[in-house]
Amino acid sequence: MNSLERFRIHLEQAPFSIQLLSPEGQTLAVNQAWRDLWGIPEDIIQNFILKDYRVAYDPQLEAKGIAPLIRRGLSGEIVEIPAILYVPNDTGIKGDPKWVSGFMYPVKDSEGGILEIILTHRDITKTRIAEDELKNAITARDEFISICSHELKTPLTSMKLQFDLAGKMLDENNDKVFSKETVEKRIHMANRQLDRMTRLIDEMLDISRINTGKLQMDLQVLNLKEVVDETLYRFSEQFILHHQDIHIESSSDTYSVKGDRFRLEQVISNLITNSLKYAANKPVFIKLQKNSETVRLEFRDQGIGIAEEDLERIFNRFERINSATNVSGLGLGLYICKQIVDRHQGKIWAESKLGQGTTFVLEVPLAD
Ligand code: ADP
Repeated sequence: MNSLERFRIHLEQAPFSIQLLSPEGQTLAVNQAWRDLWGIPEDIIQNFILKDYRVAYDPQLEAKGIAPLIRRGLSGEIVEIPAILYVPNDTGIKGDPKWVSGFMYPVKDSEGGILEIILTHRDITKTRIAEDELKNAITARDEFISICSHELKTPLTSMKLQFDLAGKMLDENNDKVFSKETVEKRIHMANRQLDRMTRLIDEMLDISRINTGKLQMDLQVLNLKEVVDETLYRFSEQFILHHQDIHIESSSDTYSVKGDRFRLEQVISNLITNSLKYAANKPVFIKLQKNSETVRLEFRDQGIGIAEEDLERIFNRFERINSATNVSGLGLGLYICKQIVDRHQGKIWAESKLGQGTTFVLEVPLAD
């Protein structure tokens, strides 16, 4: 084998994609790395790429502004081609979209005439995907910080106003500031705002636990009815304040499930808090039911409801439905609920129509 033949084998076996072009832009040969990169079937390479395909007039490269660069490469210039997302399907060839950059240089004879042009490719899809993921993560983090700051500021502003008012009354020697009624009112308001901030911070902590795989459940056999009753009891003052009647229906005193008491309380608290926010002053109906393998908890309100097309996405991170944006919240509560229920091998979903109230259904496996 002479050195020229060996050189051809070197090109064929080079670990980077090489496409050999005539000065007219016809593909004369491609090496194995090119075949591996594009995954184009051999018959299409033989009957299309090596025959009729003209890289300088590829409509996709034309549309992405790359074709003029290729034409410059064909005229003998050394050209660096910036990365583009090439979608083989758009050229009628089967294959996955790829981020590819390129480099073109001419092979000249001793007189300086162009013999052939070499076009090499670099697949940077993995790097691009990693970069895009990083960018998205940074945007999501910035959005998260901005939503959290906004939501945390609201209760703080409200407390600050209360203290400013109290300060003003003190300055004016207004005795009312010391009256039992005023002090009680202020303590009550401050407590409500502190509760709200605590809830928001807890949600933020849970999100970070979910993201780092640290949202762990301490599963024990427990009575779901007891958990429901205790959670409702904790909210009794708020129900009175919001004129909300609670009706609970169950045919047994015991509904044994294997669950994390604290986390199940959190799920029920979230459904209650949402009913207070989105169905204020309207009755709530809770139903416990034993199925053959699960305990089913239905939580039905008569509030603003949710459009059918939004029913699934309310369980996503940061998902808030437009009609409810005048009510405060991070849009994280239901996402966290779903993560908790998933870790109980259970299911949670919502049934609703806009303006006709919402029913949340929670199903967790019966303890055996
Ligand atoms: P948040 O209430 O903090 O926005 P959630 O994750 O708890 O977040 O709820 C997501 C969205 O689902 C809410 O913003 C609201 O649009 C909708 N939603 C939740 N519960 C109800 C309900 N009971 N009635 C109507 N809409 C609800």
